Amino acid sequence: MSIDTIEFFSGRESNARTYARNIQRIFTHGNLAQVQDSDGRKYIDCLSCAGALALGHNHPFVQERVIDFLRSGQLQQALDLATPAKFQFMNELFAALPSDFASQAKLQFCGPTGADAVEAALKLFKTATGRRPVLVFQGAYHGMSHGTMGMMGNLTPKQAISGMPSEIQFLPYPYTYRSPFGAQTNALETERLSLMFLENVLSDPESGVCKPAMVLLEAIQGEGGCIPTSANWLRQVREITERHQVPLVIDEIQSGIGRSGDMFAFEHAGIIPDAILLSKAIGGGYPLSLLVYQEKYDTWKPGAHAGTFRGNQIALISGAATLEFIRREHLLEHVHEVGNLLREGLLDLKESFPCIGEVRGRGLMLGMELIVPTAIPDALGHPPPAGALANEVKKACLEEGLIIESGGRQGAVLRFLPPLIITRVEACKIVERLSRALNRHAPAKSLNRKFQVHVEAKS
Ligand code: PMP
Repeated sequence: MSIDTIEFFSGRESNARTYARNIQRIFTHGNLAQVQDSDGRKYIDCLSCAGALALGHNHPFVQERVIDFLRSGQLQQALDLATPAKFQFMNELFAALPSDFASQAKLQFCGPTGADAVEAALKLFKTATGRRPVLVFQGAYHGMSHGTMGMMGNLTPKQAISGMPSEIQFLPYPYTYRSPFGAQTNALETERLSLMFLENVLSDPESGVCKPAMVLLEAIQGEGGCIPTSANWLRQVREITERHQVPLVIDEIQSGIGRSGDMFAFEHAGIIPDAILLSKAIGGGYPLSLLVYQEKYDTWKPGAHAGTFRGNQIALISGAATLEFIRREHLLEHVHEVGNLLREGLLDLKESFPCIGEVRGRGLMLGMELIVPTAIPDALGHPPPAGALANEVKKACLEEGLIIESGGRQGAVLRFLPPLIITRVEACKIVERLSRALNRHAPAKSLNRKFQVHVEAKS
């Protein structure tokens, strides 16, 4: 049966569908960082399944392991039973975790989506502490289940849903470009005030917030607009939470497995959290979701977080292969190198395009915030985010052969999450294609040709 038109999907699929709305293509093939559509057009994939494809599409190392496994006669589905696939995966995972954390860690296999790991953390830490409130940060994204949406910064999807979980407190995140304390507040001061806010909520007997079951945060906010936190801020959060005996849970669902240039984004701060949440890339392209936590919290009862499809066997194989490949090929060094190249290219564009407010991120988790530079600043003194422009640029990128997504306030942050194996040449092509797309909708002052020359020299 051949696929007639893209309208077949829009006619039958739910109104709630997301990526397919903007990316109106039928994709037939994928090879590492590139995908091909039904018209034979090729694209560099800077979305890589919302960051889930650490090694890109059909990576031969992972593919071979999966094919061997499918033919092996081993169990393909096994609830959470013990299997050789699980053994292999657990060994790779524990070797990849920081050793101080791994030595005391226990692992809960969750339902296949990241949101279920967040749900599990909520239940575990409420059980272990006997407390109810949860502290999260403005701009956070932890999933789309009913419980996790309660902890989401973005108001749009929440507004239609009544009965959101209560006792969730949002704290200001150190979003230094768009400081929640006003445009006159510099980066260091923004971080300091954010920490003071946390300290005050935990220590003021009139804060209105009972002692929380956990503080949950992303070391780099992803959907919130690719907003990194500094090592110092993370260390201080660890110090404050430890002093107040509040578990610190780090959501590494998007930033984990090498994306930031470290295996886990919190590692650059050298801290030991009480738990980390993993999904997306940990399954090597197949669905897998994990809650890894310090043994002392293992107080919940057998069956406290049951579910049918937990620890998908194929995902255990592909996840173990992905971790092994990252380790063996020293891929983190590559992420640093190629991430710096991409960042330099994006910063270079910032010189030419006044609509680029900031380029930020770490490793291959990069963001470019678009603004309306000529508009009157908002009440906090910030330039308005250019959400409509970001949307146009995304569409133009698609025509140029580049898939990117956006996030952040009003969707004005273009986000770059290419597979970690992306080449230097591909990184340069991303910049080149993006510059053409930007130029169509917000013409440059002067177009920098440095990267184009570089690509030509390399290819
Ligand atoms: N946490 C973070 C940081 C995420 O980025 C996401 C997904 N974008 C989730 C949780 C939820 O994961 P899933 O979509 O698999 O439920």
